[in-house]
Amino acid sequence: MTAETNPLLDFSGLPRFDAIRPTHVTPAVETLLDDARATVERVGNDVRTPTWATVVEPLADCLDRLERAWGVVAHLNAVVNTPELRDAYHGNLPKVTAFHAELAQDLRLYAKYRALSDAPSFASLDPAQRKAIENELRDFKLGGAELPVLKKARFKEIQEELANVCAEFDDHVLDATNAWAHYVPTADLLAGVPADVIDEALAAAAAEGKSGYKLTLRMPCYLPVLQYAENRDLRKTMHRANATRASELGANPAWDNGPLIDRILTLRQEEARLLGFKSFADVSLVPKMAQSSADVLAFLRDLGGRATPYAKRDYAELQAFARAPLLLADFAAWDVAFASEKLKAKRFAFSEQEVKQYFPEERVLAGLFRVVETIYGIQIREARAAVWHPTVRFFEISDRAGALVGQFYFDLYAREDKQGGAWMGDAINRRRVGSTIQHPVAYMTCNLPAPIVEGASTKPACFTHDDVITLFHEFGHGLHQLLTRVDVAGVSGIQGVEWDAVELPSQFMENFCWEWDVLKHMSAHVETQAPLPRELFEKMLAAKNFQSGLATVRQLEFGLFDMLLHAQYDPAKRNPWPSPQALLDAVRQEIAVVPRPAYDRFIQAFGHIFAGGYAAGYYSYKWAEVLSADAYSLFEEEGVLSPAAGARFRDEVLARGGSRPALESFVAFRGRAPQLDALLRHNGMVAS
Ligand SMILES: [Zn+2]
Repeated sequence: MTAETNPLLDFSGLPRFDAIRPTHVTPAVETLLDDARATVERVGNDVRTPTWATVVEPLADCLDRLERAWGVVAHLNAVVNTPELRDAYHGNLPKVTAFHAELAQDLRLYAKYRALSDAPSFASLDPAQRKAIENELRDFKLGGAELPVLKKARFKEIQEELANVCAEFDDHVLDATNAWAHYVPTADLLAGVPADVIDEALAAAAAEGKSGYKLTLRMPCYLPVLQYAENRDLRKTMHRANATRASELGANPAWDNGPLIDRILTLRQEEARLLGFKSFADVSLVPKMAQSSADVLAFLRDLGGRATPYAKRDYAELQAFARAPLLLADFAAWDVAFASEKLKAKRFAFSEQEVKQYFPEERVLAGLFRVVETIYGIQIREARAAVWHPTVRFFEISDRAGALVGQFYFDLYAREDKQGGAWMGDAINRRRVGSTIQHPVAYMTCNLPAPIVEGASTKPACFTHDDVITLFHEFGHGLHQLLTRVDVAGVSGIQGVEWDAVELPSQFMENFCWEWDVLKHMSAHVETQAPLPRELFEKMLAAKNFQSGLATVRQLEFGLFDMLLHAQYDPAKRNPWPSPQALLDAVRQEIAVVPRPAYDRFIQAFGHIFAGGYAAGYYSYKWAEVLSADAYSLFEEEGVLSPAAGARFRDEVLARGGSRPALESFVAFRGRAPQLDALLRHNGMVAS
């Protein structure tokens, strides 16, 4: 099997999307896994003194080929899904996963990396090389490589049980969500609810042979009912059902997640102790930017102290508005979303549809490119390459002298065969191969509206302001991948960047979407060509910060609960709080502004931290926002499109990738440690 017979094995340039077929996947993956295993054996059994050239380079070469080929398969599976491709993807995924699991457990490789880091020659490696080796050692250790045999077996048992219990947690939430329904006999009881939600409810009841309307706890139904239904009893019923999902107060005791939460916390603590840490939070924070749980708690409380007055103000306004004109004297939890929507509509009357007419696609792309070309001193031009769909576009980034920096694909429009959402994916990572540089390539994928073809004419795609923000966000991730100057695999581009810092470059880019100087050049009414009116922009800006105090303290409540639970709660002794729910109640005492009813069992469905990757990591949302806002504040000081500030951000943050700690990169760029002020100011939380 060679590149001539299988295009997935051709690594001479960009992926050959015009030639790759689902039938190529299995033979390519098998060839690459055989090659990789042979390399691992050769390196593992090599008796010579380990060096960068005999250990790291051969492994990086074979892993790079595997990642590139498998990356193409995963990408195609996500953007042009067909039954054949899906079969090929799912058929090979377990093989790729199993190989990576083997690699993480290979003690011969672990010993080689340890020898590399202990050797005197370690000091003569460049910083990126040292960081790559240190990361490998860290991951081996956190994977239990240093444990004695018996403890290693127990460690593996814990991992397996945790995977099962976490999956069960998710299943319970899903089952509890799906099993609940509320039938409303007549449409007048749904007054206020958007027509499309009512139509859907009518169809859902009809599908069961029932008359009337079927309401569910799934978000596209639950949320609009809470936001818009005039029927207060209905809101109350739905609120209680949602807030008691998967709890002892829910419909089915078999779905109570309480015992699972206890088990998950117990297993996580045992895992942490096996690895020699005091708490699971300590384990979780090792590969993150935050240094300790105490740092995270101090950060959350500092932000809390400064946001709380604004949250109280937001809530007081809402209460007053609920009393009059809404006449909701005993304002309750099930009225909050409803009153908020009414107040928002009253204050900032403008339509998303109106705004959208000002953001035709070409204008937005030109505006985006203008921003990054100006601040980073780069040039972007469209080029030709094989693509997977006729609407996909391809671009090259070069420096001012015309030298190639990186390349990217734009796959912007929603399609039926495409996964929802927006994301940036790495197609090729920058690294040195012999005497040449392998340039980075990125996929930027969105689900934006496509141009509308009407007979012979085409109406350009127009984006909402949220769409524009999404595009800027993903492009920020893309630039992190593409503007890297690191030559070492594993720490170039977004590779090896701390998990709580990876959103810095993306959220940073969003700020430009709120700059008048940027927007006035980036907008042109699709029919009249007029730029966005200033008054409309001011309304958008005011609406952006509507109830930002309340939204902030809500996130801080989740973040504090998560960190205290994983850093301080002892599930065996039920100490210093008798239960996770009691801890949440204490956190709410400390920071919450909106009272919750006693039945609220929100944590029983808090999948982010009990079933997802956010355990002792929920704070990351706010953490990265602080970094991005504070980074952007230098541009506010020096000029929003300042090439000097841009060069510094490129040199110290984007170019460095994972080759040094994110905090060092930030301080080198900003000249000091991160501060909260810019985020508070951007969210309208400043004394006026
Ligand atoms: Zn992102």
